[in-house]
Amino acid sequence: MFDNGFARLPDAFYTRVQATPVPDPYWVAHSASALALLGLDAAALDDPAWLAALAGNQPLPGMDPLAALYAGHQFGHFVPQLGDGRAILLGELNGWEIQIKGGGRTPYSRGGDGRAVLRSSIREFLCSEAMHALGIPTTRALAIVGSDLPVYREDEETAALVTRLAPSFVRFGSFEVFYHRNQIEPIRQLADYVIARYYPELAAHDEPYAALIAEVSKRTAHLMADWQAVGFAHGVMNTDNMSILGLTLDYGPFGFLDAFDPGYICNHSDTHGRYAFDQQPDIGAWNVTRFAQTLVPLMSVDAATQAISDYPMQFGQRYLELMAAKFGLALDTHTPGLIMDALQLLAANHVDYTIFMRRLCDFDATPGAINAPLRDLFLDRPAFDAWAQRYATALAGPADARRAAMQRVNPKYILRNHLAETAIRRATDQRDYSEVTRLHALLTRPYDDQPAFDAYAAEPPDWARQIEVSCSS
Ligand code: AMP
Ligand code: MG
Repeated sequence: MFDNGFARLPDAFYTRVQATPVPDPYWVAHSASALALLGLDAAALDDPAWLAALAGNQPLPGMDPLAALYAGHQFGHFVPQLGDGRAILLGELNGWEIQIKGGGRTPYSRGGDGRAVLRSSIREFLCSEAMHALGIPTTRALAIVGSDLPVYREDEETAALVTRLAPSFVRFGSFEVFYHRNQIEPIRQLADYVIARYYPELAAHDEPYAALIAEVSKRTAHLMADWQAVGFAHGVMNTDNMSILGLTLDYGPFGFLDAFDPGYICNHSDTHGRYAFDQQPDIGAWNVTRFAQTLVPLMSVDAATQAISDYPMQFGQRYLELMAAKFGLALDTHTPGLIMDALQLLAANHVDYTIFMRRLCDFDATPGAINAPLRDLFLDRPAFDAWAQRYATALAGPADARRAAMQRVNPKYILRNHLAETAIRRATDQRDYSEVTRLHALLTRPYDDQPAFDAYAAEPPDWARQIEVSCSS
């Protein structure tokens, strides 16, 4: 049943650990589609053995729990040793690694308590599954297990464990730790493992390590394009949070744009805006460079440099394609200008990005049409009118087909901060998890009109401005 590939690597890469049990665990939420990846259905949740396993209380037979070693550049500064300080890889099933986050201290916990709180676990659960439904590569979330164990952050909260799934949780930082120690053999072993398991087509390449860099670079560039197009800010793009598979990894103080604001900083602790929304593509490139550097001992500097050289082009191309599709435009020479001008107008008028894009699907291109639902979003109406006229001229083809195509790439529902916050407050104040379940169900179909949920597609209420999201989790 369990086949634990990572655990078969030499023990330089991890420490075998047992999670620290929590008292009286209970289910808070689960994802049926994530369960299906393991060949399970909701009946597994009735099995006390699964609850005990995902609470960290008792592994299932065949699991081989471990905490992985890694390092990372945090806010630009290298930290020689991080590692799974609270995540524990339980084992691998059906090609999916099963990891619990919040399972207690490990040898890599440093000053931390090894726990996660219910608040942040709900955020990670909802966003992982929402990103997947949006079509953006991400680690998955299987379930949240809660316990009344107190956990101390700014205030007293309670413990939870979110179960994450991914083909691999190897990060850029998993390589950096050995580069820093000048240990070339583990770098080679880890690269060989990653290629053999996740990029087998690269093994036959003349220079497989250079090919690995190129592939990771491309996936990262594409992921950044996906984030920018949907309006997602990760918040903590340290190299230890960068997946070797190009997945969105480690949901902390993330945020989706409400009003379009290129300089949006979702992480309250990011005082200099290193990870501001519009910095993400460049930070992705910077991070890829740190990864490429770790493989230089296995090749020439030139080959490594060459392998990441296409990143700007790959990001730019993918971003343009995604944005052109969102605007319903063909890829011709006027398209980038039209899109950039629209984004500038959105920023200047503080227009909600998701609402604008969704309403744009219904744009009426007939001469003289006012397009009031869109126009009303702008303070500067003449500026909108001027743009709309150019846009109308650029559109081609029947409106119905355009609307349908645009609605498939412009979500109506995203995990806005205030929606998560409402679900969290009900869960933490009243032990009522129904809003988590409702939101999860809604966000698994982000592109479908779900008329009963119109309020969930609206602009954030005034109280949302007071929500501050920090690294504390
Ligand atoms: P993050 O910023 O969440 O990616 O975490 C950075 C590092 O801090 C990782 O090595 C985490 O495992 C570790 N860490 C975060 N929170 C805790 C905690 N409560 N206890 C132990 N380690 C933690
Ligand atoms: Mg992390």
